[in-house]
Amino acid sequence: MIEYKNGIHISGTGLWLDAQRRTDFCFVSHAHADHAVRHTQILATRETARLFEHRYGKANFKLLEYNQSKRLNGIKVELFPSGHILGGAQILIEKAGTKIVYTGDFKLRKSLTAQKAQVRKCDILIMESTFGRPHLKFPPSRQVHDQMEEFAEETLTKGRVPVFLAYSLGKAQEAMKILSNRGFKLSVHGTIYNMARIYEEFGVRFKNYEHYQAGNLEGKVLIAPPSVRKSHMIENIPRKRMTVLTGWAMDKGTRYFNGVDEAIPLSDHADFPELLEYVRKAQPKKVYTVHGFAELVQSLREKGFDAEPLRQTTKIESTFSKELLTNYDLFA
Ligand SMILES: [Zn+2]
Repeated sequence: MIEYKNGIHISGTGLWLDAQRRTDFCFVSHAHADHAVRHTQILATRETARLFEHRYGKANFKLLEYNQSKRLNGIKVELFPSGHILGGAQILIEKAGTKIVYTGDFKLRKSLTAQKAQVRKCDILIMESTFGRPHLKFPPSRQVHDQMEEFAEETLTKGRVPVFLAYSLGKAQEAMKILSNRGFKLSVHGTIYNMARIYEEFGVRFKNYEHYQAGNLEGKVLIAPPSVRKSHMIENIPRKRMTVLTGWAMDKGTRYFNGVDEAIPLSDHADFPELLEYVRKAQPKKVYTVHGFAELVQSLREKGFDAEPLRQTTKIESTFSKELLTNYDLFA
């Protein structure tokens, strides 16, 4: 019933899920770049449509609110929060009495800027599982936020400029909320600023932030996307100390790999225990993992679940293999 061809297809329906090539009708779970294809028609939340069009231009959307089920092309569908970024959704599809859930990117931990994830009981679960290796267990959120505060505080005390590298949509707004709640003045890169303004349209407010201006960083924390790390903007900041915000911080190589002073494990994805928790709560008869590692499938089978990867599962010794660099989001 489930096929994988550059995207997930529910056979016997016209519906694709996060397909990476153009289709007639596709559910787009959220507005991150790896999901952004201009299909003939896109099923998404209002927030995802707004963020998508800001980043990639006009597209033809079929909008659905969270927790509102609708009959579309002969199947019943419902979107519900994924906890990943603003507007991020999972989808529940009911076809001939079978309940199928596709999670898209998700996390179960509470977010300050995204709606809290829900878990539904289902027959077939298609689960995104980026951090599907046992050692990828994040510290409690409070501890991660404390680590961010300490990094900023220590750096400012030394008269230096704290620079946080965070993916421009989702991660950066979460970082803005955490750091401004703790009293820091923020300067943010233009792409992050524009995205934050869209968050505000949907009622997520931020304090004490401004659009980055060269030479005006005294006493402020700078938040910028990882893509600009080697740009003149960053290179020309004297006395800076940089940290990258990513779940991969749990791997020792991340700090060296990114050429930063520190790596802090703030992630918008589920860690290994959350992936197991999700399956335990959803109680599916069949689990398909997407973007996972062999260890997760193994672990689920040991717990009695019928699990298999939907596509080739990565078998790698080190997280920083060539394969990972081409297939995975390094700033997840
Ligand atoms: Zn994502």
